Amino acid sequence: MAVGIMGGTFNPIHFGHLRAAEEVAESLQLAQVIFMPAAKPPHKSEVGLVSFDHRWHMLELATAGNPLFVLSDLEYQLPGISYSVETLSQLAKERGGSEELYFVLGLDAFLELPTWKSYRELFSLCHFVVVARPGFSPESLDAMLKTQVSASYSFDFQVQGYLHPSLHTVYYREVTLLDISSSTIRKLLAEGGSVRYLLPKKVEEYIQQQGLYQQL
Ligand code: ATP
Ligand code: MG
Repeated sequence: MAVGIMGGTFNPIHFGHLRAAEEVAESLQLAQVIFMPAAKPPHKSEVGLVSFDHRWHMLELATAGNPLFVLSDLEYQLPGISYSVETLSQLAKERGGSEELYFVLGLDAFLELPTWKSYRELFSLCHFVVVARPGFSPESLDAMLKTQVSASYSFDFQVQGYLHPSLHTVYYREVTLLDISSSTIRKLLAEGGSVRYLLPKKVEEYIQQQGLYQQL
């Protein structure tokens, strides 16, 4: 079984995340996409980060009705800061050898990988699916992979991804580019602007009801 993992702070979840997950699932025939919100992300400041419970609830509202999309609170269960290398190892252990894991990341996030703890180990644990994001070129992916991970990665047109003799595959997918980010949404909300059509209506309503993101 092929399983996608979509990590992030989801502060809040929006249509950019959901559409990317949908297109990747279809393209790679994934049986499931697991949305895994970070509990204590190492790279993001706590300022403006709403509680795990709020982010979880918004994820539930956004993914309800799509049987392919499931949630995992693994990063909440694990003690301390959420490092992907630890989460992924744990997930690989729990799920046994029967599942192939595909870690889905935006190109912006993938380029930051060299700042992550033990990031090279990730390439022995799971495949990557890097999705396009406005303003980031696929050439930067090529350069990062070959200089920061391994020079033995080479692009294969048939799989639309980078193959390696011993490490896992790094797929690249030109998903529909939606120039939506959680930070833009938070900024709009703090300014009292409209966020309609950037995220699911139920999530927007929850934000209003709970009075989230009223200031940056
Ligand atoms: P922020 O603006 O706070 O950084 P974000 O919108 O980038 O938020 P994250 O929770 O940081 O959302 O992202 C989780 C994952 O989803 C990352 O891998 C990121 O690259 C990807 N992602 C976020 N927005 C989009 C989008 N519009 N299209 C494709 N991928 C996205
Ligand atoms: Mg981001």
